[in-house]
Amino acid sequence: MNRRQFIYAAASSALLPLVGCSSKPDGHKSIVIVGGGFGGSAVAKYLKKYNPALQVTLIEPQKTHITCPGSNWFLAGLTTMESLTFTYEGLKKRGVVVVHQSVEDIDDIGQRVRLSDGQSLDYDKLIVSPGIDFRWGDIDGITQANSDKIPHAWQAGAQTLLLKKQIETMKQGGTFVMIAPPNPYRCPPGPYERVGMVAHYFKQHNPKAKIVILDPKDKFSKQALFMEAWQDLYGDMIEWVGVADGGKVSKIDVASMTVFSEMGEIKADVINAIPAQKAGDLAFKAGLTNASGFCPIVAGTFESTLKKNIHVMGDASIAGTMPKSAHSAVSHAKMTAAAIVNSLEGKGVLSPAHVNTCYSLVSDKYGISIAGVYNVQGEKIDEIKGAGGVSPHDADAAFREMEATYARGWHSSITQDVWGA
Ligand SMILES: Cc1cc2nc3c(=O)[nH]c(=O)nc-3n(C[C@H](O)[C@H](O)[C@H](O)COP(=O)(O)OP(=O)(O)OC[C@H]3O[C@@H](n4cnc5c(N)ncnc54)[C@H](O)[C@@H]3O)c2cc1C
Repeated sequence: MNRRQFIYAAASSALLPLVGCSSKPDGHKSIVIVGGGFGGSAVAKYLKKYNPALQVTLIEPQKTHITCPGSNWFLAGLTTMESLTFTYEGLKKRGVVVVHQSVEDIDDIGQRVRLSDGQSLDYDKLIVSPGIDFRWGDIDGITQANSDKIPHAWQAGAQTLLLKKQIETMKQGGTFVMIAPPNPYRCPPGPYERVGMVAHYFKQHNPKAKIVILDPKDKFSKQALFMEAWQDLYGDMIEWVGVADGGKVSKIDVASMTVFSEMGEIKADVINAIPAQKAGDLAFKAGLTNASGFCPIVAGTFESTLKKNIHVMGDASIAGTMPKSAHSAVSHAKMTAAAIVNSLEGKGVLSPAHVNTCYSLVSDKYGISIAGVYNVQGEKIDEIKGAGGVSPHDADAAFREMEATYARGWHSSITQDVWGA
């Protein structure tokens, strides 16, 4: 470690007020990253890997990151909260300065961000990966204030713990209602993995319980595989009601736990209401979003089409046909890091290819998966037809069990890649 790297390593753990003064004390380029989830943490790591001389500062309010991947498994008692929780020590060891603040606003003309403690930080390039926020109020009764009674658990942490407690204390033979979100939302198979995990728990502890999914969509990711597995593993415990059968919810009365949809009224014991989604709030404040509520980007570099020198990645970005997933966010991160390093070194733009894989558990021994490969086609990121696929329909129990093992392996390896030392 040379003297300059030592100073930055020290600053990352002890001398944080330093960041408010000058971001470029030794003339090296300053890259500031907003958000220490999958996208932001991965881009910090890979920027340092591709060019160790860069000053890389990650701004994230939380001291640890709890991954959404695996949080459905936690609901079924198949993993612990500790195994989903990661610190920023690995990134600090790589020389990334980690500042536990929120970014309040972005001055894209002055190339400066203002933090919640009032300090400001200059940048040469800014990367924004704030994840999602919710469109509260799209459905009457689904509000932020009500989320402590009808949790979404779509950002892992306190909400996940709350939903788990509600599942565990639901009355025998009670009804669990999930309100699935409309497209686009983070983790397309996530709601359907979740009901399988809840059913796995109920099968052992509340076998007469019923699960109803009210869905504003007419189809969903890995649908045939999920529905076949639900039937095989849980009989008629799970009922999916798509939009054609009245699955669109108009209102929830939280006091009486009644859900009103086009199919009629359901009296629920637990309601898991997952609201419609949009880019994280900061993206709106900074003028990075378009009418869709997400952030348009240049396909090859993830630079915002609306603001120069700001790149947006992960769930907040409009990455063509790539799903909003942790795997996608990490793929965006690696390509964004390469694009920024190349641009600072005066090299040309890469022609990136991306991969996405989403594993889902349907029980502890039953896994299914979907994979896609993407590249830049014209102005857009699009899937390379025939390069991806889903698990086979006619697989035997040993194959499903092997995929369940791969699912756990995927979580270990991606989190080690992003937050490992
Ligand atoms: C139940 C569930 C299961 C899932 N399972 C999978 C799976 O199996 N595989 C998969 O690939 N994906 C899965 N996902 C999706 C995955 O969690 C997201 O796609 C991924 O986290 C996106 O990464 P991101 O960096 O865009 O956002 P995040 O990981 O959410 O990170 C955003 C970060 O930004 C920070 N932030 C926000 N605003 C500010 C601000 N103003 N200043 C500073 N920091 C800020 C937040 O604190 C947060 O840490 C799942 C999601 C859910 C809900």
